[in-house]
Amino acid sequence: MDFVSLLDQHARTQPDHECLRAAGRAWTYAEFADLSRRAATVLHAQGVGNGDKVALLCFNTIGFVAAMFGAWRLGAAVVPVNHKLQAPEIDYVLAHAGVRLCVADGTLAAQVASRIAHRCDWLATDSAADGLPLFDELMVQAAPLGDELAAPGADTLAQVLYTSGTTGKPKGCLHSHRNVFMAAVCTAAGMSLTRNERTLVAMPVWHSSPLNNWLLGTLLMGGTVVLLREYAPKAFLDTLAEERITFTFGAPIAFLAPLSVVPDVARYDFSAMRLWAYGGGPLGADMARKLAQSYRSDRFVQVYGMTESGPLGTVLYPEDAIAKAGSIGRAGVPGVAIEVRHPDGRRCGAGEVGEIHLRSPAAMQGYLDNPQATAEAFDAQGWYRTGDLARVDEDGFLFIVDRLRDMIITGGENVYSKEVEDALGAHPDVQDVAVIGRPHPEWGETVTAMLVARGGRALEARELVRFLEDRLARYKIPRIFEVHESLPRTATGKLLKHLLRDAA
Ligand code: ATP
Ligand code: MG
Repeated sequence: MDFVSLLDQHARTQPDHECLRAAGRAWTYAEFADLSRRAATVLHAQGVGNGDKVALLCFNTIGFVAAMFGAWRLGAAVVPVNHKLQAPEIDYVLAHAGVRLCVADGTLAAQVASRIAHRCDWLATDSAADGLPLFDELMVQAAPLGDELAAPGADTLAQVLYTSGTTGKPKGCLHSHRNVFMAAVCTAAGMSLTRNERTLVAMPVWHSSPLNNWLLGTLLMGGTVVLLREYAPKAFLDTLAEERITFTFGAPIAFLAPLSVVPDVARYDFSAMRLWAYGGGPLGADMARKLAQSYRSDRFVQVYGMTESGPLGTVLYPEDAIAKAGSIGRAGVPGVAIEVRHPDGRRCGAGEVGEIHLRSPAAMQGYLDNPQATAEAFDAQGWYRTGDLARVDEDGFLFIVDRLRDMIITGGENVYSKEVEDALGAHPDVQDVAVIGRPHPEWGETVTAMLVARGGRALEARELVRFLEDRLARYKIPRIFEVHESLPRTATGKLLKHLLRDAA
């Protein structure tokens, strides 16, 4: 149960089948297995060995994938790093994980390497960076490390994947080789991936879903992965058509953005596409219809999960996409169990709201150096508490309501911040909004709205209350309105409400 053995097996049984394509080049399974052995030689020469951690600070490049397999051959774990982070944030991750070596895209290394306090070795990949050895050239010169290396054990650490840091500092999720392998198995089963797949990975590979579900899920089956170095709307569509892609995944915005910049999406030949997957945020009924129409496809699936879970959790399959629009789907991925529970542990019935619990062979072992958070994350039976609240409908479909820690309790009533944000976001003068609870001596918490006005327009509390009165029950209407210049968000656009709460 490890990807090193699996890659070598594919290299023996289907040596000439295309494994990876990136930057206009292609590697067969035999060629990529060889490249990963060379990568192992280069990393070994840098002192990497059993139990070490290698950071990967890269765009979607062959260097990333080769370094990952090279590290795995040596018994080391990889730490994919979000390249949109600022230098101090990257420094936090490198130091927290205790990485020994950082393989960084040359352009990224040039920007940040000198500003990192954590001491580790650096290799540049893809392009040169001042004074750093170039990984790609070293791989060409290296002799491939052979079969003298034992395959990593199923319980050996394979990855430390950092969460987005939406609710606090990013946490390092520990995934063993078994977890990574099972994430790919569950994905391949849930999405019916085959050897004939041509998967476009356009979302950043340092995210757990592009990496463990789509890249590794495709390689598991012996299919072909096409890497798009960095997402851009037109390049995304061009590659889908030119490479005869059969499967891809993106955040909803990845499919919506091209509609406003590419004049005629319908002229593209997407006839090879079997499934379009999106996740990370729900898509309303109107948008779902718009996508189906614009892309002339009724083959959209929605996926929900998190870094901790592997991450495939629930799936909304194409046949339900319109009827259950706005839902994240329901249990259905083989091997992944989903339950929505009340705080007392009872399962929620139709119409009730509770916390999503998940049990999966792909779920992490725990958080790096954080026994308290690990203990809180799992219950005694090994169910992972997602921290996401959902309403279940009569058919078992889940609708995300809020994050548990964002829910506001005021005068004994539960207020879902997301519901209030959605209502305020519909006001024409509101550009951005966050709703939090402020401590209050009598009510427990007061609903507080923080707003950014659209194009310098004035926002009047009285007018906003009038606007909300038709849409929300009285107790949900904010008592405090504040206008801000901007609201803090993560590099991927998620609201950092804990910062707003701390400031309040
Ligand atoms: P942190 O755990 O550090 O606070 P994070 O939870 O945002 O950050 P990720 O693991 O990247 O880090 O994101 C997982 C979260 O994203 C889920 O818990 C859920 O809240 C949200 N999410 C994922 N998929 C969907 C989806 N399809 N619809 C709605 N929300 C989603
Ligand atoms: Mg989370």
